[in-house]
Amino acid sequence: MTADAPIAAFDAGLAPVTDLAGVGPALAQALERLGLVRIQDLWFHLPLRYEDRTHVTAIRDLRIGSNALVEGRVEAVERGFRYRPQLRVAISDDTRATLILRFFHFRGTQVAQLVPGTRLRCYGEIRHGSQGLEIVHPQYQRLAEDEVGVVEDRLTPVYPTTEGLGQKRLAGVIARALDRLPPAAALELIPPRLLEPLGLADLRQALLTVHRPPPDVDQAALAAGTHPAQRRLAFEELLTHHLVLKRLRAQIRRHASPRLAGGGTLPATLLARLPFQLTRAQRRVVDEVGADLAQAQPMLRLVQGDVGSGKTIVAALAALVAIEAGHQAAVMAPTELLAEQHLRAFRGWLAPLGIEPVWLGGKVLGKARAVALDAVAGGAPLVIGTHALMQEAVRFARLGLAVIDEQHRFGVHQRLALRDKGLAEGRVPHQLVMTATPIPRTLAMTAYADLDVSVIDELPPGRTPVQTVVISNARRHEVIERIRAACLAGRQAYWVCTLIEESEQLEARAAEVAHAELTAALPELKVGLVHGRLKPKEKAQAMQAFADGDLHVLVATTVIEVGVDVPNASLMVIENAERLGLAQLHQLRGRVGRGRTASSCVLLYRPPLGGLARARLDVMRETTDGFRIAEKDLELRGPGEVLGTRQTGQIAFRVADLVRDASLLPAVQRIAADLAADTPERVERLIERWVGGAARYAGA
Ligand code: ADP
Ligand code: MG
Repeated sequence: MTADAPIAAFDAGLAPVTDLAGVGPALAQALERLGLVRIQDLWFHLPLRYEDRTHVTAIRDLRIGSNALVEGRVEAVERGFRYRPQLRVAISDDTRATLILRFFHFRGTQVAQLVPGTRLRCYGEIRHGSQGLEIVHPQYQRLAEDEVGVVEDRLTPVYPTTEGLGQKRLAGVIARALDRLPPAAALELIPPRLLEPLGLADLRQALLTVHRPPPDVDQAALAAGTHPAQRRLAFEELLTHHLVLKRLRAQIRRHASPRLAGGGTLPATLLARLPFQLTRAQRRVVDEVGADLAQAQPMLRLVQGDVGSGKTIVAALAALVAIEAGHQAAVMAPTELLAEQHLRAFRGWLAPLGIEPVWLGGKVLGKARAVALDAVAGGAPLVIGTHALMQEAVRFARLGLAVIDEQHRFGVHQRLALRDKGLAEGRVPHQLVMTATPIPRTLAMTAYADLDVSVIDELPPGRTPVQTVVISNARRHEVIERIRAACLAGRQAYWVCTLIEESEQLEARAAEVAHAELTAALPELKVGLVHGRLKPKEKAQAMQAFADGDLHVLVATTVIEVGVDVPNASLMVIENAERLGLAQLHQLRGRVGRGRTASSCVLLYRPPLGGLARARLDVMRETTDGFRIAEKDLELRGPGEVLGTRQTGQIAFRVADLVRDASLLPAVQRIAADLAADTPERVERLIERWVGGAARYAGA
């Protein structure tokens, strides 16, 4: 092993921002709200995007959706009050085309300045308005009659900022900080012997490029986040993230956990009573979990398994190990519906063994809640619920195992909170995290670097693969006939309504409309409805009726996405399938094909289909393998679709994108291991640099 040169003891980046000219207490306070305390925080406060003010675009040449700098003369001004006050200003230029500037907030003085004939220069996003092209709330300035507006000679970075701190001011401070960047060798924290073989750009140059893109920069690459400068930064950010998770893991693992290894009587009893045999993959994962539980160090294990692979029984067996050893087990799911489903499954399996779960959903209130809390504090063996389990008032007597389902809906912080729940006598519970998000292995190793990963890579036998067809909405009536035929033959069907807007209300309305349509078209069938705006009891009733076979068709919004299990349902129709990502489509489709009858999935789309949407639906038609689908998603993906922040819930990167930058991950893992082993002081500095205060918080 060659020793690396020591890193510079003096570090210009560690000086406080107040060292910079013009940064007084008020500005320093605003900067601190952004986590910018030291000069290096400013170096690594990276632009979110860029604005192009390097040239004026003729109004005739404007493109919808792009941002543009436009110059023109005010033609007409109109103040309206239809729904709310608004101001519309029409401008035109030499190309005789018109652009509307629309304002919803404005002052009288502003209106007075915008008289017809005034020359304006404005910047903003070009949209399609009711009267043609428009910009809502453009940035603008008035130009004197003979004034030539300045154009920038390079792209303008746009930084994440906070109220009361304008872009200009922030950019000015960052520029002054950049003037203090040390020479390349002093800035570098990754030893050259590790870095050089990767052929990445120089860090100092990379920072200067993203903050001050040169006029001839490859703009498309910069916009896509694939410029070599961004890749260099993404590499270091991913590396640091990986190191943070590893450190978090090490910190948790320093605590003790109870050794959970009973005689195995309870698990054996459950296994003997099951109507099925575990798959080989399930047995392997049960063994891996069992080995972890027997240690005096906390288990930190992720069980990954495709929809329907049978993760729940693995969790139940782990819970029995904990219970037999005299400890409590908690099972936490991200939605009420899913938690209730677990309650039913666990109750069915464990009640015959004399173990009655305590239910702690979000809607358990008043006296019922007090009773549940007492039971938990009194050592009830098994508790099932939602995030309500993590509230302050919930005290466990001897929490030995925390099972967390569908991890992508929870963040790391919530997992930490649950860990702290068990922190009695300095001992922390074992953690078992389950996810159906089929992430390719390299991604998993970075996204979950704090966890060991077990994979259930086999489905229970006797399942016939789901047949998938892609059908235009124009043939909707045929699909409805298909439902009629299937249900009259004794099967059941889901009809799933999806909307692109993240609005529960709109989605609920769409489901109500579809419900009315199907009820009218299928008078001989019973059609139920479940959506997020129903009361939990109504939801549960509808689900139960469907599970009991009292309903033929269940119209649902994406609330059924996770966990629902009705083996007799063999037909699923997904409306507006073209709008969903592959991961979500796969999850939804996993609701059918759980019984012995051949199942099918109809992906209804509204034409015309875009190229990417078409490609996605083709993938769905061709394969039912979650891992293949995840790989395809990687190839096709829209940014962050496979593993966006929404899914991981915890990772907000500045430049990196786990999917886009996936090819960097093997090097990240290799170098992280090397750095952690050989040069811990460099690790600390990297974490300071990229995560700063946040890491100190998370590591507390
Ligand atoms: P998921 O991994 O999606 O959470 P579940 O745990 O809900 O899947 O299991 C799906 C269904 O398969 C359940 O009805 C469960 O009882 C059943 N199941 C689990 N393991 C097996 C097995 N080895 N053989 C047959 N059925 C199984
Ligand atoms: Mg499940």
